[in-house]
Amino acid sequence: MEKAVIYVRVSTLDQNTDRQIFDLTNYSKQLNLKIDKVFSDTISGFKKGFDDREQFNLMLEYINKNQIKNILVSELSRISRQYIHTVNFIHNCSEKLINIHIQKENLSTLNKDGTTNGMVQMMVGLLSSISSQESATLSYRIKSGKRSEALKGNSYHGQLYGYDKIDGRPVINQEEAIFVRKMYEMLLQGFGCRKIATYLTEAKAGQKVWSSATVHSIVTNPFFKGKRRFKDIIIDVDAIVSEQVFNEAQTFIKSRFRFVSDSKHTNPFASFIFCECGATFLQTIIKKNRTDLYKCSASCGVKSINRPYLIDEIKSLLETNAKLTKDKEVRANFNFKIKLNKATLLKNENRLLLLEKMSQKNYDLYTSEKIKESQFDKALLRYEDEELKLNQMNTKLIETNKAITNSLQNEILHYSDNLEILKNQILPILDKIVIGEKHCTVHMKGFSMMYFYIYRGHELQSYRNHLKKHGSNVAFKPSLKIEGLDEDTQMLLDNYLDLNPY
Ligand SMILES: [Zn+2]
Repeated sequence: MEKAVIYVRVSTLDQNTDRQIFDLTNYSKQLNLKIDKVFSDTISGFKKGFDDREQFNLMLEYINKNQIKNILVSELSRISRQYIHTVNFIHNCSEKLINIHIQKENLSTLNKDGTTNGMVQMMVGLLSSISSQESATLSYRIKSGKRSEALKGNSYHGQLYGYDKIDGRPVINQEEAIFVRKMYEMLLQGFGCRKIATYLTEAKAGQKVWSSATVHSIVTNPFFKGKRRFKDIIIDVDAIVSEQVFNEAQTFIKSRFRFVSDSKHTNPFASFIFCECGATFLQTIIKKNRTDLYKCSASCGVKSINRPYLIDEIKSLLETNAKLTKDKEVRANFNFKIKLNKATLLKNENRLLLLEKMSQKNYDLYTSEKIKESQFDKALLRYEDEELKLNQMNTKLIETNKAITNSLQNEILHYSDNLEILKNQILPILDKIVIGEKHCTVHMKGFSMMYFYIYRGHELQSYRNHLKKHGSNVAFKPSLKIEGLDEDTQMLLDNYLDLNPY
């Protein structure tokens, strides 16, 4: 059996040489050759020339020294990227009676009698066209090599704030991550990138001067929610902010750009706000006569409300609620409620399964004529009734749990003065607002409702004066002043109002 060497070459570190060697070893058996040694180069066919390939040159020395007359390659392009080198190499080998066996074409450069294979002449002639095609293949191979590196989390070259590069992978820098989260948090609170940049510089985050552009690049980069873009693919990396926070931030940024200049006339409660009669409560702004209010679209008699006042009150209610959800005890209660709901859900699911079995049995009894049709109908109706109720209950339980989770995860503590931003902030937590004659009821998703007393006209004026003087910490007592009353009667009236608040 004649001896042979295998020569393999891969374009990047990522390509598998084992496969080539395996295939070529099989091919050698077909040719009745014995493999003496394997030479393998892993270099780029583009950057390095023919002579740069270490193993290739070692192979040439080796076959010279050991009088080996056979070389196995998987395809012609493995010899060299450059057409002229391949032609010269084949020519030189043929002169020395060294046979090159090309697996892909199932072709050997020499015939049995040592003459040159006519097919090879043709092949070499075709090489120039093949090689350009191969270049395309190669560049694809390089790309796919890089891509699979990236998929493994490697080939991370960026200097992204919040991440360190360790062994070519992005690893969260916990100290910087705190500031990244802070950026998103501030943005969601309605701060602009410029203000956030000032904050970061003052807080000495990363010991540098921050620009709003850098902040903007961080609050819009999906890398921070764990999705790294690499060409046309997305690679999972460790996230610094949650998907929800990231997506909310994008909504805010978009709405800022679109509406920031004029959010004064935005109806932040559009589609949420109703009159107690069931009709929509409409926002009405008429600049000319300084009308700025909400009123019932059905004009049912419920008085209109001053719009800036309503917005302020709801905002402060939401802020109170937000502080509440940060309270440990409240959180524990909510988590308990979630668990309780889940237990009920499970119980209902089991009951539904049982109902299904009972229903099946009912049907079997009927088809085997053990019960009458009227009995069958009666039972079926009962099962279907219960099934419907259970399904409705389960839907509600699932919704409630989702809403509670939403509220618990809500990071917003301050609601924006920008009405477009406010609108986006309340979207995930607010269910509906109902306006009555005396009270405004705010239904939060997953919460029991909250309400506040509505001041109008003269009362509202006193309330606002009170707020200016004392802030919201001192309770406001509405006082009713009636012109021309003597002091005693006024005191009686005040006492009456104390005992009978609106
Ligand atoms: Zn109404």
